[in-house]
Amino acid sequence: MKKFIGYQCSLCGTKFLPGQASYTCPRDGGNLDIILDYEYLKKKYQPEDISCRSECSLWRYLPLLPVQDIEPGETPFHAAGWTPVFSLPGLAGELNLSALWVKDESRNPTASFKDRASAVVAARAREIKAEIIVTASTGNAGAALAGMSAAIGQKAVIFAPKAAPAAKVAQLLVFGAKVILVDGTYDDAFDLSIKASKEFGWYCRNTGYNPFTAEGKKTAAFEIWEQVLKQNMFVSAVTDRPARLTVFVSVGDGNIISGLHKGFKDLQALGWIEIIPRIIGVQAEGSAAISNAFKAGDEKIIPVSAKTLADSISVDLPRDGVRAVRAARETNGTYLTVSDVEILQGIAKLGQAGIFAEPAGAAAYAGLVKAAHEGIVGSEDSVIMINTGSGLKDVQAAMMAVPEAPVIEPTLKAVKRLL
Ligand SMILES: *Cc1c(COP(=O)(O)O)cnc(C)c1O
Ligand SMILES: [Zn+2]
Repeated sequence: MKKFIGYQCSLCGTKFLPGQASYTCPRDGGNLDIILDYEYLKKKYQPEDISCRSECSLWRYLPLLPVQDIEPGETPFHAAGWTPVFSLPGLAGELNLSALWVKDESRNPTASFKDRASAVVAARAREIKAEIIVTASTGNAGAALAGMSAAIGQKAVIFAPKAAPAAKVAQLLVFGAKVILVDGTYDDAFDLSIKASKEFGWYCRNTGYNPFTAEGKKTAAFEIWEQVLKQNMFVSAVTDRPARLTVFVSVGDGNIISGLHKGFKDLQALGWIEIIPRIIGVQAEGSAAISNAFKAGDEKIIPVSAKTLADSISVDLPRDGVRAVRAARETNGTYLTVSDVEILQGIAKLGQAGIFAEPAGAAAYAGLVKAAHEGIVGSEDSVIMINTGSGLKDVQAAMMAVPEAPVIEPTLKAVKRLL
């Protein structure tokens, strides 16, 4: 394939040809960036060649992806991405922002951001004729891989911690994947899945290990470019100067934030955007290894013993930590941490605006609230937050976020007493 010319290690900078690496850097284990031939792409495409496409999924960005499409069709496989962006004027007013949007990734076919990565990895697996794909997952990555695999008739094996929320495990099983629940943490499942992948020759999708996941995730940045950056003149009401967009996203392994950064860097390399939006990562207080490194002014990721009810971002050792630190540092962004209580408040608040988020999705909102109070964003800022997963993924957490409903006798009198 002409456009995909190799990999570059994010730690040592070594470049590899497409056939010379598969996962992380063979020298130091660093995450590999996929290198595209921007000169070739620049000559071949204009932004209009993308925006005129009628494809309403992440496959509208096929020209900028390092894979071929799996045979065209209208299966759920072709439904990942192109999620809606909604304006939230009420919350923008409350937080005193110039504008606030939410990109609702719960609208993906398996109801989380992970569908983007799994679609592109499944396409890659097809190209290299992998028979079985394996992944470790806190739940969503597995559900996405299981769903995308089911849609194209691919075999998948999923390792998840046995404490994964029931809805996520149900998805894995219904999609017909081989599901293996590990009596341990996500990190235990991660290490085991890599051992199994090596032992049995399975193609491994693991987040922060397989370089194609970030390529899938970068498509959300392309969508923000089309749905927000190209649609709005970012002129500050206060200074009349162009205002900058700030993106809020929750962070566990650090692959979504790295993927978003890569997407914006691609657009910049093509000359299609001038400046990259500011990217702000939000971690749970109890799972903040990347935020800790950022605040220490360091790229060294020191593992923590993760503890948060936001299971999707509960990670001891983030697997894409270095690139995740850089995503904030290189865009003038920052990291914030939020407590589980603040996350639950975020679920309730977003719910009242019509958005049902799982805890990890609401964490981004909780981080935004904190940033607004600390003056990190204000009346000159336009903000987009990403709801990374559906509230239906973790109903138990949702119920903790809101008061219980009263139960009454079926009489009008009882209703009156209640009101
Ligand atoms: C995976 C996930 C995240 C975090 O993504 P990372 O790449 O692990 O940082 C956030 N929210 C949801 C719902 C997720 O499934
Ligand atoms: Zn390296």
